[in-house]
Amino acid sequence: MSYEGPEDEAPQPRSRRALTITFAALVPVVLLGWLAYSALGEEPDRPASAASPSASAAPGGTGSPSPSAGPLAGKVVLVDPGHNTGNFRHTAQISKQVDIGTGKKECDTTGTATNAGYPEARFTLDLAHRLRALLERQGATVRLTHDGDRAWGPCVDERARIGNTAHADAAISLHADGSAEGNRGFHVIMPGVVHAGAADTRPIVAPSRKLGALVAGGYRRTTGEPFSNYLGDGTGMVTRTDLGGLNLSTVPKVFIECGNMRDKSDVALLTSGPWRQKAAQGISEGIVSFLHES
Ligand code: ZN
Repeated sequence: MSYEGPEDEAPQPRSRRALTITFAALVPVVLLGWLAYSALGEEPDRPASAASPSASAAPGGTGSPSPSAGPLAGKVVLVDPGHNTGNFRHTAQISKQVDIGTGKKECDTTGTATNAGYPEARFTLDLAHRLRALLERQGATVRLTHDGDRAWGPCVDERARIGNTAHADAAISLHADGSAEGNRGFHVIMPGVVHAGAADTRPIVAPSRKLGALVAGGYRRTTGEPFSNYLGDGTGMVTRTDLGGLNLSTVPKVFIECGNMRDKSDVALLTSGPWRQKAAQGISEGIVSFLHES
């Protein structure tokens, strides 16, 4: 809902248009699109490359055809953009209780926002688009749990189910935290052992731990973002058994809390398009390493 489209489809000031025309004479259109969103920091377009020939035509916009080339050909990655910008307007629907194995929990939550009003759900969807483009370039098939194409949700149990049904080789849920000013840094959340009701994480705990360590390493390397100074005892790694999106997963899955949207140091990073590109790069590198080793 909040996806505003790539910068190069938006009205442009005269100087930028003139610059675009100059470049257009010199570089291929695909490269131009890349340069435009890298430089301007807006949400990326799907690359119009041979690696994703009809991705934008996928039903509902959430699925992608399987690319036929690249080192990750045949691998499926589930990318879950946390929350939904429409959740704020659908509090009745998202507060409905769903079964997460260990008990009941809200279908979904609104997520947080910066003090200036940049919502977590918009951050996560932008990051998801960047991550999808990078993984597809490696030949992976990428599924999103939603693509700004629904009014609210999906519920956390459905988010897990989408990755399970896709038989994802790796799954990641993207978030940013809403903690107190001064609390900063990122952390990766991994599933703990849960065996209750519909939840049985026992087969995914070990591979998820490996995935989490690789994602944390890649993210730290490309962004320079420190490990959380308020969770995880300085390791950047946290294990939880209360998240439906992890409890109900049957495929290796982690969450990443990319930073704290209430801390001004982190906000300066989270609201920067070029920085989000680095974040996507780091997460992608972690997932790619995991898929190569698994
Ligand atoms: Zn969140």
